[in-house]
Amino acid sequence: MFKPSWLPLAPALGEVLLLSKASNAKRRQLVVGNWKMNGNLRENADLLVAITNGWQGEHGADVVICPPFPYLNQVREILHNSPIILGAQTVHDQDKGAFTGEVSASMLADLDCKFVIIGHNERRRMQHESDQQVAEKFAAAQKAGLTPILCVGESLQDREQGIYLETISRQLNAVFAHTGKDVFDKAVLAYEPVWAVGTGKTATPEQAEEVHKFMRAQLGALSEKVRILYGGSVKAHNAQQLFALADIDGALLGGASLDANEFLAICKAAE
Ligand code: PEP
Repeated sequence: MFKPSWLPLAPALGEVLLLSKASNAKRRQLVVGNWKMNGNLRENADLLVAITNGWQGEHGADVVICPPFPYLNQVREILHNSPIILGAQTVHDQDKGAFTGEVSASMLADLDCKFVIIGHNERRRMQHESDQQVAEKFAAAQKAGLTPILCVGESLQDREQGIYLETISRQLNAVFAHTGKDVFDKAVLAYEPVWAVGTGKTATPEQAEEVHKFMRAQLGALSEKVRILYGGSVKAHNAQQLFALADIDGALLGGASLDANEFLAICKAAE
């Protein structure tokens, strides 16, 4: 298994849970809801009314919702007086032109999006987005003033073969090579093991903490500043345990973001 000599062995669960959030008190927790290709005008309105009633900004965490493109403006209007922030699920790397069906970062910024998910594994796998395209999208998002949420994560096969850190390193390095590391103070990272996304299987605290620590170390000078989210079947019942880990700064949620009670319980666990 690829394990640089400086990488500490993953601590036992007991030790992990004893690591205090005080060590990363400067990083504000962040919960991002990725609605994927779900919702309609009525369902979105109902969901958002319930969420905005339950989250009025008194809590110490940031909350972002990323609806499908056709509903960005609806969600933007409903969230207008709410502390909940608007985000998008993907973006094109070019600013304008003959790219039928695509949406540019400046269009997202025009609609008051502040965050955009980049390199989600569903896009890497189903839309065949390469590491290089992901890097270009990351740069385009930052150029338009958006905060990219860069997703990385290994397949089940990589995990079983013990090469998961190599995969994550390759995905991160593609972006570092394109933009440099200094720009990561205006970015968020998300570790999303492909085998845990939408499957009901969550990484154990030891597995998640090992990779988060590894990713943090890759960031060099910014390692203590950048927020690193965990994503992969996070639910209200397991969120607290994950958020207690020193290197996890919140969650990227799929399924749980479509249920107001579940979503609010996770947001509250993050404060
Ligand atoms: C995701 O799509 O990024 C995700 C984490 O999905 P889920 O929470 O459903 O596993």
